[in-house]
Amino acid sequence: MSTTSSQPQNPTPKTLFMHQTPAAAGPTEGTKDEHTGLTKLPNGVVLDKDGKPCRLCTSAASWRSLTKQAKASPSSSSSSSSSTPASSTTSTSSPPPPKASPTAAASTAATAAAAAAASSTTLPTESQTQCPPDVEELGRSTWTLLHSMTAAYPARASPEQQTDMQSFLRLFGRLYPCWVCADDFRTWMAEPSGRNQPRLGGRSEFGTWMCEAHNAVNRKLGKREFDCRFWEERWRTGWKDGRCD
Ligand SMILES: Cc1cc2nc3c(=O)[nH]c(=O)nc-3n(C[C@H](O)[C@H](O)[C@H](O)COP(=O)(O)OP(=O)(O)OC[C@H]3O[C@@H](n4cnc5c(N)ncnc54)[C@H](O)[C@@H]3O)c2cc1C
Repeated sequence: MSTTSSQPQNPTPKTLFMHQTPAAAGPTEGTKDEHTGLTKLPNGVVLDKDGKPCRLCTSAASWRSLTKQAKASPSSSSSSSSSTPASSTTSTSSPPPPKASPTAAASTAATAAAAAAASSTTLPTESQTQCPPDVEELGRSTWTLLHSMTAAYPARASPEQQTDMQSFLRLFGRLYPCWVCADDFRTWMAEPSGRNQPRLGGRSEFGTWMCEAHNAVNRKLGKREFDCRFWEERWRTGWKDGRCD
């Protein structure tokens, strides 16, 4: 996987992604390019192949910066302003607020004030917001699916089961909706020495292979690697200390 390239809108010397500048570098909001006069995208925002910001490829933090930027300068001639789905997402896709019930109308002014204060300072939880996923949420859900597939894989897989899984992984590498992630995943699998080819003979080797695949992404993102000797406790049997029982 390459670690050296940059996003055209916002080149930085060092990036974690083939296609993305790292959000950790700190999003830059609304800075203008001195040559073009266009508003630069915040760091970490990945564009889709059609040139629009790709939410499924972008971290929640970078997406928030982009939304903020779009709200701050809705009419600026930004490279993202015409194509940013952020503002339309936040302004049109939320369900309308519920109508006040008689019970609510009867509540005391103090209660209402407290509720208003709470709603203005407390962010809703992820399950309450029900927004489209960003790259992290999509990733967590997908790893759950992928590792669970290894957990459910037979101890010894038949030729047909191996072929099916091979097909799944090939298609997964082409269809995973974070396209930059998919590109890197395919590149990793196709490493010329062949050492990253899926190992599909049975659960143990497939689970270890998936763990290695996940660790390759962890490394790319600068995260701690997982000790693959424990993949099965994490994803199949539960930890030996009984915390999952
Ligand atoms: C194929 C794929 C490619 C991705 N590529 C990118 C990318 O290029 N850029 C990007 O920003 N994000 C990418 N992601 C998302 C990224 O991997 C994470 O899912 C996301 O950053 C959220 O990370 P997290 O720290 O919550 O835990 P995750 O990495 O999602 O892990 C979830 C849980 O899995 C367990 N775990 C961690 N590592 C392993 C392992 N090696 N083996 C078994 N279990 C493990 C841990 O218990 C962890 O809490 C990709 C996801 C997938 C599925």
